[in-house]
Amino acid sequence: GAGNRLYNFSAGPATLPLDVLEEIQRDLVDYKGSGMSVLEMSHRGKDYMAIAEKAEKDLRELVGIPDNYKVLFLQGGASTMMASNCHNLAAATDSADFVVTGAWSVKAQKEGAKMLAKANVIASSKDQSFTTIPDVKDWKFTEGSKFVHICSNETIGGVEFKEVPDVGNRVLVADMSSNYLSKPIEVEKYGIIYGGVQKNIGPAGMGIAIVREDLMGNTRADTPSMFDYKLMADNDSMYNTPPCFTWYVSGLVFAKLLKDGGLKAMEQRNIEKANVLYGAIDGSGGYYVSPVDTKYRSLMNVPFTLAGGEELEKKFLAEAKAEGFEALKGHRSVGGARASIYNAMPKEGVEALVSFMKDFQARNA
Ligand code: PLP
Repeated sequence: GAGNRLYNFSAGPATLPLDVLEEIQRDLVDYKGSGMSVLEMSHRGKDYMAIAEKAEKDLRELVGIPDNYKVLFLQGGASTMMASNCHNLAAATDSADFVVTGAWSVKAQKEGAKMLAKANVIASSKDQSFTTIPDVKDWKFTEGSKFVHICSNETIGGVEFKEVPDVGNRVLVADMSSNYLSKPIEVEKYGIIYGGVQKNIGPAGMGIAIVREDLMGNTRADTPSMFDYKLMADNDSMYNTPPCFTWYVSGLVFAKLLKDGGLKAMEQRNIEKANVLYGAIDGSGGYYVSPVDTKYRSLMNVPFTLAGGEELEKKFLAEAKAEGFEALKGHRSVGGARASIYNAMPKEGVEALVSFMKDFQARNA
């Protein structure tokens, strides 16, 4: 049973739905009477093929992915795709545009600079310490660049795009690692959507790319096969041995999300949870502080500080941990606290955290 499970606020790998964990546990040794564990099955066998195909079918239904987009289940996570996106969309002599809103879009831009002749920073919130998102009206698109890259949710800084930016007929590429499936996705506004699954979806070890078909098939002569989205699509993401177990668990999560009402319902729950936490921060009379521009506050990652300073923060984090609130420490690059409240974090977890915060404040005001 749930027994001693903590409320896990980790940014990733992150908490998974308890019913999914229990289903895995039930099926782990003997998958539905097959006499084998999913961990042992050939990825080309009948049982596993059914698992893989259902996962894609359910994801397509859940998101509403148009037929002219391919779904790829890939090893290497989002970090690998920062490179492979470039190889699929641009020649080494081409350039691309990057909107820099935090640590992850910085990484994507740096990777782009290795893969491309130029990785243009066309807008940045660096001067605001990545607490906001530059207005799309101020982005300085580069003539002839091959794509525009954004990070739809910055896991460390806690800023999130609230609308898909209008980039005209340019190819928009979005890193959705930390808000994948947390709300509806307007797929047709993107060229490539990509992200690791280890936050909102499943265990670590896999990324999912949703790629517009006409953008595939133009890789460079020296592109590694594993980076080639067309090759991967033509082989149903089984050009080599795929991350079978992660794919299987992700499939269980897709089925659960469908059963729970889909992405609109998920968004509603995520808004409610985030409101509880931001409400507590804003209602603390300045005791807890959110550094993020209220317009762009993430529904997924909520960084906050204690106005009382670093010593008090340390005490807060130590007491929170002792009370069973796991991984609230902010990223080492920014300090403070951060609560990641992905899809699988129940509202009760956020409410419990908020009541701890109020109690801590009362005792340490
Ligand atoms: N992009 C974002 C927004 C992330 O939060 C992460 C976190 O790990 C990554 C990319 C890197 O993903 P991966 O570890 O799958 O390479």
